Amino acid sequence: MSAPSEGTDIMVSYLIRNAQILDGSVPQDIHIADGVIKAIGTGLDVETDIDIDAHGLVVLPGLVDLHTHLREPGREDAETVLTGTQAAARGGFTAVHAMANTFPVADTAGVVEQVWRLGQASGYCDVQPVGAVTVGLEGKQLAELGAMHESAANVRVFSDDGKCVDDAVIMRRALEYVKAFDGVVAQHAQEPRLTEGAQMNEGQVSGELGLGGWPAVAEEAIIARDVLLAAHVGSRLHVCHVSTAGSVEIIRWAKAKGWDVTAEVTPHHLLLTDELVRSYDPVYKVNPPLRTAADVLALRKALADGTIDAVATDHAPHPAEDKDCEWAVAAMGMVGLETALSVVQQTMVDTGLLKWEGVADRMSHRPARIGRLSGHGRPVSVGEPANLVLFDPAYRGTVNPDSFATRSRNSPYRGLDLPGRVHATFLRGVATVLAGELAERGGLA
Ligand SMILES: [Zn+2]
Repeated sequence: MSAPSEGTDIMVSYLIRNAQILDGSVPQDIHIADGVIKAIGTGLDVETDIDIDAHGLVVLPGLVDLHTHLREPGREDAETVLTGTQAAARGGFTAVHAMANTFPVADTAGVVEQVWRLGQASGYCDVQPVGAVTVGLEGKQLAELGAMHESAANVRVFSDDGKCVDDAVIMRRALEYVKAFDGVVAQHAQEPRLTEGAQMNEGQVSGELGLGGWPAVAEEAIIARDVLLAAHVGSRLHVCHVSTAGSVEIIRWAKAKGWDVTAEVTPHHLLLTDELVRSYDPVYKVNPPLRTAADVLALRKALADGTIDAVATDHAPHPAEDKDCEWAVAAMGMVGLETALSVVQQTMVDTGLLKWEGVADRMSHRPARIGRLSGHGRPVSVGEPANLVLFDPAYRGTVNPDSFATRSRNSPYRGLDLPGRVHATFLRGVATVLAGELAERGGLA
């Protein structure tokens, strides 16, 4: 399939009729042309190429993911930038941050520029490469952070995700280095010695199953150290995939101190618990592991009150041969781009914890701000770039990963009923998704 908009030569105009903008009470029409929101109002009378009846649909700003594994270069059998950005568009995302644990690792200007160019060519979603903190994710020597920042990819987020920057001196140097250009270090908080041989959350279930435990303290100890380091050097720290109630307490404390610390939670940690591991189905194997029901409730509360800033998917595609095997040898991670908004509706909106304004804040405004993506996370107003999602919260369906755009099928939600569906996604005024399907050439026939 070709890109929806080869470069910028396609200009399509749309009239979205009777859409509910966030939690606004009166449905509005939205006129999109020349890549921007031209007008918002009731009963707009304009000639456009494509007319969309949005009765019952909610309009959100295009979602921004701080944590996506696109696998290219090196593991194109799991995902490519093209298939990953198609999955992102179908999930309502207009920008994703591509993690650095590719082959080769994105630890030089050359590799991050390669990923950035592949993203530009895909046309479905903006791709902002994340740079590795250390050479080869080895944790020993700082990567070329400045060169990656100054490259065409203009990297601002650095992470060894998949691995923890566990050396305190390296972490301190990275935090000091990125300060110069307002960058941020995104830490995968996992104390390596405490998690040797870890297979699942350490607790009652791991004890009963006899599987190696990944204790909450291994996450919390690193977060505690890193918020103190960030405060000490006066730099920005972002905590990836927070998974425990204790981590929330530490982040809440750091924020109360006024330190520049932000955090994300994944959809799966908002919904699933370690009880699922009793099935021994490796689709539930993920890092950090699924935790307890008490952790899930603490994470929802923290996302609702803003202690956790953002939802990030940690979309981690794996081919069948790496997941359909024995628990002990299966790869860790799950796909999540195409189900993220539905899981957030179920866990946060339908529970009354967040309104759609809150979802826009946690899935668009704040992640865009953390990544310093100036063209994303903008308000839904006239003159703004038309990065938008039309979401149908009344839709009910059963998750079928075989219909996903991602190249991989390792979704923990297969067969589950989840609410809501992305009806349309617009990237700078060109539809990447229409009527729930990928759109070519912005939907023009
Ligand atoms: Zn991670």
